[in-house]
Amino acid sequence: MNPRNADSARTPAWDPKTLLVAGGRPAHGYDAPVNHPVTFTSTYHSKGQAAPGERVYARFSNPTWDPFEQVLGELEAATLPALVFSSGMAAIAAALSIVPEAGVLVMPRHSYNGSLALSSELQEAGRLSIRPVDIANTEEVLAALDGADVLWVESPTNPMLEVADLPALLAAAKAKNTVSIVDNTFATPLLQQPLNHGADLVVHSVTKYLSGHSDVIMGALVTSDEQLHSRLHGYRTLHGAIAGPMDTFLALRGVRTMSVRIDRSQSNSQVLAERLADHPKVQAVRYPGLPSDPGHERAAKLMGGFGSVIALEAGSSAQEADRVLDALKLITGATSLGGVESLAERRARHASEPASVPASLIRLSVGIEDVEDLWADLDQALEQL
Ligand SMILES: *Cc1c(COP(=O)(O)O)cnc(C)c1O
Repeated sequence: MNPRNADSARTPAWDPKTLLVAGGRPAHGYDAPVNHPVTFTSTYHSKGQAAPGERVYARFSNPTWDPFEQVLGELEAATLPALVFSSGMAAIAAALSIVPEAGVLVMPRHSYNGSLALSSELQEAGRLSIRPVDIANTEEVLAALDGADVLWVESPTNPMLEVADLPALLAAAKAKNTVSIVDNTFATPLLQQPLNHGADLVVHSVTKYLSGHSDVIMGALVTSDEQLHSRLHGYRTLHGAIAGPMDTFLALRGVRTMSVRIDRSQSNSQVLAERLADHPKVQAVRYPGLPSDPGHERAAKLMGGFGSVIALEAGSSAQEADRVLDALKLITGATSLGGVESLAERRARHASEPASVPASLIRLSVGIEDVEDLWADLDQALEQL
């Protein structure tokens, strides 16, 4: 850990729930604040030639990043602090920069549509070539690793909620010298820690569960590889997609409550998924917490919970699903996920979504409201069909 970040006295063996609350605090001391101040500056007083570790300029470093980067690094069981970026996509762009020129990228056919769009754009420009895979099909992914430079994993996938056999895929990538990158936005480090299974790099849209209140756009990368860390730090400094100090403050403030938020949103999700699966107006429900879900057994074995996103096919057409969305009164019809408030969106409305995502599929990000109020809202909206 960067000694600059190691400013709170503590035992190294804290449970992640404690780390969320107590990590990245100023050292105890009378009159010391319990939160670090937010540093709004573009530059630092510095003398002569920049010495190693000197801040110099706020595109290179900002003290407001340090506690967040420390906490996220430790949550992901990394030996180095995370690197914050201005958005999840900025972090993804930095992560994709490590694919060698004309390299082969193994990519889940269902993943966040921004990751798909950016990697496709890079392929069209001749920068890399993509091997699309069903990330839940381990055999298929292992076969695609032959001669591949980078393996991209998202699990559970957005929005199809497929669950990857993370340990098997990451071990195979390591054995073949394929660099592995895991987008851990959906699971968060509370439910799975990809570095512990051998991932080289973890990507986060901090916008989602880490911040948790739909008021911040931010991203992060996490690695224990010093060379990779220094390369990505250099990329961030030169490309300049840095996180703002106020956003980073809000993100750390959000992190403090992440374990209670996720406890509630997961238990709400389990109840809603079970009731939706029994609802006559619902054609299909995907949620790894349902025993009938194809990803259930794997998720139960590998993850610390089933997450808080449900994919449901409401009715059998885009029009019917839109009617349900329009009828929602409590749940907001909006893109994004991972906030305290429940959001729902028909994913295929985005042209960038893969054609295999059903037209009527609604992605429901379950929040922390009272579960009966959420159910009443869904039930009355489904009655419109
Ligand atoms: C939202 C999201 C992203 C992109 O993050 P932004 O912060 O919106 O740039 C990347 N991956 C996943 C899985 C996401 O849900």
